Amino acid sequence: MVLGAGSGGVRASRMAAGFGARVAVIEERYLGGTCVNVGCVPKKLFVYGSHVRDELEQAAGYGWQLGEPSFCWPVMLGNKDAEISRLNGVYGRILGSAGVEIIEGRGRLAGPHQVAVGDRTLTAARVLVATGSWPYVPDIPGVEHAITSNEAFHLPELPERVLVVGGGYIAVEFAGIFSGLGAQVTQIYRREMILRRFDGDVRRFVADEMVKKGVDLRFSVNLAAIERRGDLRVCTLTDGSVLEVDCVLMATGRLPLSQGLGLEELGVELTSRGGVVVDVDYRSSVPWVLAVGDVIDHIQLTPVALAEGMYVARTHFGGLDVPCVDYTNIPTAIFSQPPIGTVGLSEEAARLDHDVAIYRSTFRPMKLTMTDSTERTLMKLVVDRQTDRVLGCHMVGPEAGEIIQGFAVALRCGATKSHFDHTLGIHPTAAEEFVTMRTPVE
Ligand code: NDP
Repeated sequence: MVLGAGSGGVRASRMAAGFGARVAVIEERYLGGTCVNVGCVPKKLFVYGSHVRDELEQAAGYGWQLGEPSFCWPVMLGNKDAEISRLNGVYGRILGSAGVEIIEGRGRLAGPHQVAVGDRTLTAARVLVATGSWPYVPDIPGVEHAITSNEAFHLPELPERVLVVGGGYIAVEFAGIFSGLGAQVTQIYRREMILRRFDGDVRRFVADEMVKKGVDLRFSVNLAAIERRGDLRVCTLTDGSVLEVDCVLMATGRLPLSQGLGLEELGVELTSRGGVVVDVDYRSSVPWVLAVGDVIDHIQLTPVALAEGMYVARTHFGGLDVPCVDYTNIPTAIFSQPPIGTVGLSEEAARLDHDVAIYRSTFRPMKLTMTDSTERTLMKLVVDRQTDRVLGCHMVGPEAGEIIQGFAVALRCGATKSHFDHTLGIHPTAAEEFVTMRTPVE
């Protein structure tokens, strides 16, 4: 019995059914979970939509004369909703054809091996909790007048002025989306630089590019209160300044969705943030209760949940002896504008344990050389001087996610700088810069 038909739950269900298990998945909201419905997928569609503005502006440099462009939010929203509905259908069919029963409703552990859904009580040998996470909103006066990413995907109209609170993935991505679509965006972050834990050069570089694109990025300041005046949100910041906006987006992290599932009552150990504590085989403190994905509060990324779900299916239901999920060198992209792609260690993290050489290059992407755009690209390698191993590979620029995915394979294989140097470039591309950087920076 699987609680939650998101990335981890669906993957585990399908694979476990493939191994011959009798599987039911209980879902109260939507098939596909956060990723498909209010996360990765619609976010990427919005990023595409928002980036069209840049492309329209750049078209002039290539001789295209276009009329005054206008943007219609309901059209984009409608098409996005249609695509998400299509994907919901795909998920339903995938589960159905795998022989997984889908039960609509809210599942709750009711006793040993028992799950209650509505007025039914079902039994299962094992229960997989894959209920994901939910936006965390700090307790600030008037915060009920703010939205989270959940609502940002369903706004009736594009707000003219937006305040984005936070400095993580969602804040940076939505600041870019709203700004690209034409809204006036202020983003505030409580510390000195956005994207804590990412490489320092990457953080500064992307912040500069965001400012160049018109985002009013403010550091070392937080939201103190929101007052609603009609449609207006009057925001008081901790530095005493006051900001009038049409929408406040709280992008202040996500917490595991573990409440109200009967977990604590059964003695399932949870962390102080509500994450289900699991062992290397994703078994909770109650051995027949397993958990994967955001609800274990480890790494909140879809491919991580997929890997964990597959591991559970293979080991617990397929009887296979497979290696544990390897959490090192997880590549990731932030779909900021321009996007970030990264794998391996930041320079700062690498310096803690290694003597490093840094290779860095910044340049104007070729596509932009005939346009008025001043956007630049950053590429950076962090190399261990002793072993020559490439420890980190970082990029800010067009298609960074697409490019870094390939380099993630190289790092997984233990690539050295010499391997990079002996790899021929593909010319002319931006990615070739990664194999042509020869001289470390001071
Ligand atoms: P993040 O953890 O990335 O960022 C949360 C941000 O909110 C941080 O900047 C944090 O600051 C700040 N914050 C936390 N509490 C407060 C507070 N009380 N007041 C003000 N600021 C606060 O979470 P997100 O919500 O952006 O995203 C959740 C997760 O979802 C991500 O970590 C990521 O794993 C995943 N995700 C992945 C995406 C992708 O792969 N492209 C896209 C979107 C989400 P501080 O740094 O000081 O802690």
